[in-house]
Amino acid sequence: MQPFVYEMPAHRVIFAPGSIARLPEEVQRLGATRAVVIAMPTEKRFADEAHARLGDMSAGVYAGVVAQHVPVEMLKDARAHAEKVGADCYVVIGGGSTVGVGKGLALETGLPIVAVPTTYAGSEMTPIYGITEGGIKKTGRSHKVLPKSVIYDVNLTLSLPPHISGPSGMNAMAHCVEGLYAQDTNPIVVLMAAEGMRALARALPVVVREPGDIEPRTDAQYGAWLAGLVLGSAGTAIHHKLCHTLGGSFNLPHAETHTVILPHAMVYNRDAAADAMKIAAEALGVKDAAQGVYDLIVRIGAPTALKDIGMPADGLDRAAELATQNPYWNPRPIERAGLRELLQNAYEGKRPS
Ligand code: NAD
Repeated sequence: MQPFVYEMPAHRVIFAPGSIARLPEEVQRLGATRAVVIAMPTEKRFADEAHARLGDMSAGVYAGVVAQHVPVEMLKDARAHAEKVGADCYVVIGGGSTVGVGKGLALETGLPIVAVPTTYAGSEMTPIYGITEGGIKKTGRSHKVLPKSVIYDVNLTLSLPPHISGPSGMNAMAHCVEGLYAQDTNPIVVLMAAEGMRALARALPVVVREPGDIEPRTDAQYGAWLAGLVLGSAGTAIHHKLCHTLGGSFNLPHAETHTVILPHAMVYNRDAAADAMKIAAEALGVKDAAQGVYDLIVRIGAPTALKDIGMPADGLDRAAELATQNPYWNPRPIERAGLRELLQNAYEGKRPS
């Protein structure tokens, strides 16, 4: 076993169907009296319900979140709104984009966040934040942005359509996979990652077939919670770095990019992280982990090829170039030729051999 440092982010998790009813109690526990409820326009109905539940403790709804990567102009707008209504707490209801706005605000003001995630992105479990200014996304880690309380209410995920559920679940799967071989992984992270993979692999095919079925949805949310914990507790490697590059420089959609790249990043690391791949294969119940992930993606009807999610063919060389800059840790050293091959296979959507 490799030596390790064990540090788990501390926060409170309420995991139960109908647990949104406990939102007022969670806000009260933080000593807050004026919570602003933050959401995307598409999830405003959840925000309005939360506002009604909070009664006198609500400072109203801000439904101006725009998808992905927290543009600084929107953050300024959200902050101005929160200050105008005298907010002393942020209740964020939605996917990673919405949680990201709460994090950006908490970073600046130090006010607490109560998060109610409605996708499988896992951001609510991590101290990682990202803010985009002038087309450049800056990311960092701060315990200030970690939600104080997280409410996982499966009922709020039932309306997620299959084309969002599948890639979002694979985004969670990617956190688990990289947690298995991260430089600073530890035995608890490995346990959580393997259990997260098992839960996601058994749940996602049913979730996309029966989106309104509570049991597989609960299982998927359980896997996503574990995946978020893994991402928040251990570092990442080539997979997340590549997805970050493709999202930032080619504006590709977040969860879909994670979905397409994952099996190919696993092939890249297959020999250098052989023990991790063995654990992954066992968790998925397959012989080869990379092939197992690819087959799962096909089974849930999620995208397999970069060319289908907006990647231009003439951008592959630049992507390989960008991903080799700023050296970062990976089980297998980062080589331009290997990355270029990975990207070509991902572009075409080839099943790993
Ligand atoms: P998202 O938050 O943009 O949501 C994706 C889509 O799902 C949106 O159209 C939204 O309207 C819809 N949606 C959300 N909940 C729904 C529901 N219950 N019913 C129907 N539709 C619903 O996407 P995401 O994939 O959840 O998050 C992506 C963002 O999160 C990216 O910016 C990424 O960088 C960030 N992220 C950050 C971390 C971190 O640790 N900091 C981790 C993962 C993702």
